[in-house]
Amino acid sequence: MTGASREAFDRRVDSALGDPVLQEVISSGQDYMQALQEQAKAELDWPAWLDAVEAVRSHTIAHLDFYAAQFADNVERLGGRVCFAADAAEAREYVAALVKRKGAKLVVKSKSMVSEEIGLNRALEEAGAEVVETDLGELIVQLAGERPFHIVAPAAHKSLAQIRDLFSTMAGEELAADAGVLTTFARHVLREKFLTADIGISGCNFGVAATGTVVLVTNEGNGRMTTTLPQTHVVVMGVERLVPDLQSLEPILAVLPWAGAGERITAYVTAITGPRRPGDGDGPEELHVVLVDNGRSSILGSKYEKILHCIRCGACLDACPVYRKIGGHAYDCAYPGPIGAVLSPLLDGLERHPELPFASSLCGACSEVCSARIPLADYLLELRADAVAAGGGSASWTAGFRGFAEATRRPRAWALGERVAKVALRPFERHGSVRWGPGLLGLWTRSRDFPPWARRSFRELWRSRRPSGS
Ligand code: SF4
Repeated sequence: MTGASREAFDRRVDSALGDPVLQEVISSGQDYMQALQEQAKAELDWPAWLDAVEAVRSHTIAHLDFYAAQFADNVERLGGRVCFAADAAEAREYVAALVKRKGAKLVVKSKSMVSEEIGLNRALEEAGAEVVETDLGELIVQLAGERPFHIVAPAAHKSLAQIRDLFSTMAGEELAADAGVLTTFARHVLREKFLTADIGISGCNFGVAATGTVVLVTNEGNGRMTTTLPQTHVVVMGVERLVPDLQSLEPILAVLPWAGAGERITAYVTAITGPRRPGDGDGPEELHVVLVDNGRSSILGSKYEKILHCIRCGACLDACPVYRKIGGHAYDCAYPGPIGAVLSPLLDGLERHPELPFASSLCGACSEVCSARIPLADYLLELRADAVAAGGGSASWTAGFRGFAEATRRPRAWALGERVAKVALRPFERHGSVRWGPGLLGLWTRSRDFPPWARRSFRELWRSRRPSGS
């Protein structure tokens, strides 16, 4: 980990830890989501549904070449056009060229994490189009000039007052800090955009290989507007977001809303099969599907392959104690939280996100709640080993652990270390715990306490209780 990237990461973390509004919003949001998710697990035979999701995702990823080709053939058979984009630049270029060719002035977008991953909005603005996010949370972060904070709830970090301020600036007048007033305002503005947009861009929760169908799962109806009102619809999706057939969707559509938002079902499940056909009442005349690789094929067949099983439910973010403190922006990537701490270094390279595998307590909560049974905590450990093997480890950590290993092999050195630590920690103790200190101790106690050294060590207790002569 370079000093510069570590410092930048520390600054982002400090900024989150020092923001009391943010701390309150994240923890209350996480508590709320966890309560709903627990309810789901009590209502359903949750392990059986997870078995079914795991089976579908394992099978699809193991045969991804076949299903990607089948999906593309079916989209084209129905009249759509398919672009296999090897990387972010190719995907951006394809969509930007389309915008220019169409002379598009206004592009509406429904939620797409992949478009965030490839930096699509800026490319389209450079191509001359106004880009408007139409998912309410995405619109809020777009107005704030920020990245999504959470993969399911992009504006989870914003208070009502902050949203009121953003929408008031957009409206050019002071709006009331009332959810009804603000959503009515957004609906009014977005209706106009839907009706006048030249191109609609959506993500894709899952593509159905057997039918060439693009399936969107949304709660606001903006996905339907984006994909039916403009004359051109562009789907930007990761190449791994496929299932073999419509039946395979059943367990995913059962688990995703519960795990993602604590809902039995999402308000809208939209299935789009090809562009408008003769006789159709609505729908786009042109459908383009951009299948983005951008590092995914290099994960296939590797020890990290299961990360491609992810269904983007966001449950790992809601369970993570580190995300709870540092929030989504500290990760500085399209995918925050445990999924992002694994996926982003794999997609962009460990050298781009060297600190992310270390942004975890390794408590395993993410692996425990994962809807696709991805061993996230194991992957974080593997990535740490990769980072150290690549020379990216911290010299002070390496020296510290070497010293620890040596001390544990030498009982006398260990006993001496215990005595030194007991005396050395005493000045930093307050009210039964260590609350500050120099160096690494200070970094630790900045946001959590540290237990005081035991007055008598286990070895001392053991010796005192051992019957004499034994
Ligand atoms: S890693 Fe698992 S829990 Fe996290 S978003 Fe993906 S499927 Fe959901």
